[in-house]
Amino acid sequence: VSEKQTLGFQTEVKQMLHLMIHSLYSNKEIFLRELISNASDAADKLRFEAIDNDALYGNDHELKIKVSFDKEARTITISDNGIGMTRDEAISHLGTIAKSGTKEFFGKLSGDQQQDAALIGQFGVGFYSGFIVADKITVDTRRAGADASEGVRWESAGEGDYSIETIEKNGRGTDIILHLREGEDELLSSWKIKSIIRKYSDHISLPIVMRKEEWDDEKKETVVKDDLETVNQASALWARSKSEITPEQYEEFYKHVSHDFQAPLTHTHNRVEGRSEYTQLLYIPAKAPFDMWDRNKRGGIKLYVKRVFIMDDAEQLMPTYLRFVKGVIDSSDLPLNVSREILQESRDVKVIREGSTKRVLGMLEELANADEQEKKDKYVTFWKEFGQVLKEGIGEDAANKERLAKLLRFASTANDSDEQVTSFADYVARMKEGQDKIYYVTADNYAAAKNSPHLEIFRKKGVEVLLLTDRVDEWMLSFIQDFEGKELVSVAKGGLDLGALEDEAEKKEHEETETSYAELVGKMKTALADKAKDVRVTFRLTDSPACLVADENELSGNLLRMLKAAGQ
Ligand code: ADP
Ligand code: MG
Repeated sequence: VSEKQTLGFQTEVKQMLHLMIHSLYSNKEIFLRELISNASDAADKLRFEAIDNDALYGNDHELKIKVSFDKEARTITISDNGIGMTRDEAISHLGTIAKSGTKEFFGKLSGDQQQDAALIGQFGVGFYSGFIVADKITVDTRRAGADASEGVRWESAGEGDYSIETIEKNGRGTDIILHLREGEDELLSSWKIKSIIRKYSDHISLPIVMRKEEWDDEKKETVVKDDLETVNQASALWARSKSEITPEQYEEFYKHVSHDFQAPLTHTHNRVEGRSEYTQLLYIPAKAPFDMWDRNKRGGIKLYVKRVFIMDDAEQLMPTYLRFVKGVIDSSDLPLNVSREILQESRDVKVIREGSTKRVLGMLEELANADEQEKKDKYVTFWKEFGQVLKEGIGEDAANKERLAKLLRFASTANDSDEQVTSFADYVARMKEGQDKIYYVTADNYAAAKNSPHLEIFRKKGVEVLLLTDRVDEWMLSFIQDFEGKELVSVAKGGLDLGALEDEAEKKEHEETETSYAELVGKMKTALADKAKDVRVTFRLTDSPACLVADENELSGNLLRMLKAAGQ
C-alpha cells in the first residue's frame, strides 16, 4: 500500500496552475492567506465532525495553525491539527477542481493577463496559489481518527503530475511544505511572514502561532526560540464589536469568506437580540460570480452556531434572489447538530432569513438613495451586476415587493442609452400632466425596444416609456401591476387608452377617422378572419402603417416567444 504512485492532474488543474503562476505573481503574498484559510477550514470541519464524535480529538483538543520556516532547506511550512485527508481525499481535493462551473470558467479566460488575473481571483485559487512561490509542494496529512501508519504524502512540482504515497505521520492534520523558488528568500523571515499574516489573516478565529525570535546578546543576532507566540488576534471577527474592526479587516474577512480578490461594495454587521439571537455579517460583492446562473449554486452564507462552524452555503438563510450575498450568520439558538433538513423547517431559521433579508434590502436602499456620488455609483455597479437577480424577488418575496419595486432600475426613452438607471419614482416624477399610468415596452434587446413602432405616439406626445429587455422582465411583470397606485401598462397591449393625455379635439378627430374607415376595416376583418382576432384603426402609430398588438389579457408576443423557446 505504501508504494509511491504518480498521477496526472485534471486538465483544468494544469491550466489553472499555469495561469496562476503567470498572472498572480504581483500578488504573490496571497499564497499564505489561502493556505491559512484552508487550515482554518480544516479546523472548522474537525470541530463540526467532533460534535457527534468527541474521540476525533484524541488527546489534542487545542486547535491551532503553526507557520514555520527553515532558512537552510528554504521551506515554509503551514501546519494544522484539523480534519486532515485520507489518500482518496488528497487525490480528489488536490488533484482536481471540484467547483461548479469550472468548464465555463476556463471558457471565459481571454489570455489577457490582467483580465484573467481578476477572473481567477473570483474563481478562488486556493491551494494551488502555493505554486506562485514554490517549485515543489509536499503535503503530509493524516485524517482525524486514522492511525499514524495511515498518513499520506502528496507531492508535486506543479506541472503535469503529482505523486502520492503512504507514510507514518505523528498527529492528525496537515503540513503544507513549500519548497521556495529561486529568488523568494525574502519570505524566509519571521518579520516578513508575521506582517503577511497580520495583513491578510488577522481575522482567523484560531490562533496562528510562530516560534519566537529574540535578540541574543552574546551571538549578536536574533535567534529562534522554542516557545510559540500567537501572531493574530485569534477571535472571530464577527463577534468583535464594530468599533474594534478596521475597514481593512472587514475587507480581508470578506475575501476569506467569499474567495473573491476584489473588495466588496458594502457590508452590514449586526448583533440581533430578541425572539431569535444571532450575529450577521453580510457583504455585497462588487462583481457577479461567473456561476451566478448555475441552478445548483447554493449561495454564500456560512452558518455558525455559537462560534462553531456548521456549514457553508446555508441556502435556507437567504432567499434565492439574494444568493449573491456573502457572509456569516452565527446563531445562539440553533442546535449544534443542525442539518440542512432541520434548517428547512426551523422557525428560528425563518426569523433569521426574514431579518437578514431586511438588512440586505436596507443596505441596498442606503446605496440607492444616497446623496454621495460614491454610494450612488456603487448602486449603479450593483444593479449592473445583480439587477436581473434582484428582479426575481418581485415574484419570490411578496412581503418585500414594495421595497424591491423601489430598487428596480430600467432603461427608458428619457435617456438615449441602454443603461438601466431609471427608477419608477424617477418616472413618476417626470410624468406628463394628466398622465396616470406607467408605460413600458418589452423586447429581446435594447435596439428592438427602442425602435418599437408602439413607441411612436408616445414620442410624439413626449411621454416617457420604460424599455424592458431582460429575460426575467416578462415574468416579473406578471407579479407587479402598479407602482404606488400608478398602473403599469404595456404600450403593446389592447386598445391603448391614453386617457387625459388625449385632448378633446383629438378625440373628435379620431372618432371621425374611425367612421370613415369603417368599411375598409370591415373588409380587412373578413380577409384576416382566421389570422387576427380584431382589426382596429389606431392612432398610436405615426410612421409605421400597421402593427400587431396583443389582447388586454393575453400573453405578449415576447413572452409567447420565450415560452416557445423554452419548449412550452
Ligand atoms: P477551497 O478551499 O476553496 O475548497 P482549495 O484549493 O483552497 O479550495 O482547497 C481544495 C481542497 O483541498 C479543500 O476544499 C480541502 O478539501 C482540501 N484541503 C486543502 N488544504 C487542506 C488542509 N489544510 N486540511 C484539510 N484539507 C485541505
Ligand atoms: Mg481554500
